Amino acid sequence: MLQQTRVGAVLEHYRRFLRRFPTVQKLAAARESSILAAWSGLGYYRRARMMHAAAKVIVKEQAGRFPASAEQLSALPGIGRYTAAAIASIAFDEPTAVVDGNVKRVLRRLVADNLSDELLWETAQELLTQARPGDFNQAMMELGATICLPRQPRCSVCPVYEQCDSRGSLPKPKTLGRQNKRMIHYALDCHNGSVFLVRRPKDASLMPGMWELPEIPGANGVSPWLTLRHSITVTDYQVAVSQVSASDQSDGKWISKGRLARLPLTGLARKILRAAKLI
Ligand code: SF4
Repeated sequence: MLQQTRVGAVLEHYRRFLRRFPTVQKLAAARESSILAAWSGLGYYRRARMMHAAAKVIVKEQAGRFPASAEQLSALPGIGRYTAAAIASIAFDEPTAVVDGNVKRVLRRLVADNLSDELLWETAQELLTQARPGDFNQAMMELGATICLPRQPRCSVCPVYEQCDSRGSLPKPKTLGRQNKRMIHYALDCHNGSVFLVRRPKDASLMPGMWELPEIPGANGVSPWLTLRHSITVTDYQVAVSQVSASDQSDGKWISKGRLARLPLTGLARKILRAAKLI
């Protein structure tokens, strides 16, 4: 949940998710739509699908026992080198180093060299404290997140200042590209206690199979009832919502208000329905 998402945005979702799916068996047996509904608002839905797939492998092929080594963990769906090393070291004390974006920056500055990714993994492994690998990895990530900051490293309060070869003198990273801006217009069609929603195609690259409000293409002249802003990855959306009929769209369905909260909605659809006091 925490990949690409702020801790503050995750906490309540995490507690609710664990109440709903308290064991790996419950998670494996759940319908995908229930998991996506519980995940709604966190974005990057592929993570939820992959976690579901991993839970099924653990239950069906490993008798419900969670793998304890980085090698076994990285064989699970959705778990890459970084996540496998983080779980193995923090949860199971395996002496294996973690390299994320923060750690890369810290290491490159520590050795004053723009090391390649492979060399970064090797250097991290050489530096790792074998006795407390989980604490070491978390300390490295935290150092990058709080002290060795991308643009303004706080060298004067850095605990590894004496060991650092660059002391902040490596070239600063280039500034990130600007966010794209896009206008989008949706129809909010409510009738007899139901809302008309459409389902995104199962093969869509973004949020496949999730429910959202019907889009009104080229909505010139339709005045919005509600406007809001929403950001997805590198795009800032200016969102307009109009109360107009949209039920002629063939891929849509009337959903009763009582079912809305349990439906896998896109984050934006949930935001609009909340603003409209429908959930
Ligand atoms: S001394 Fe400065 S550049 Fe070196 S690790 Fe600490 S904060 Fe980063």
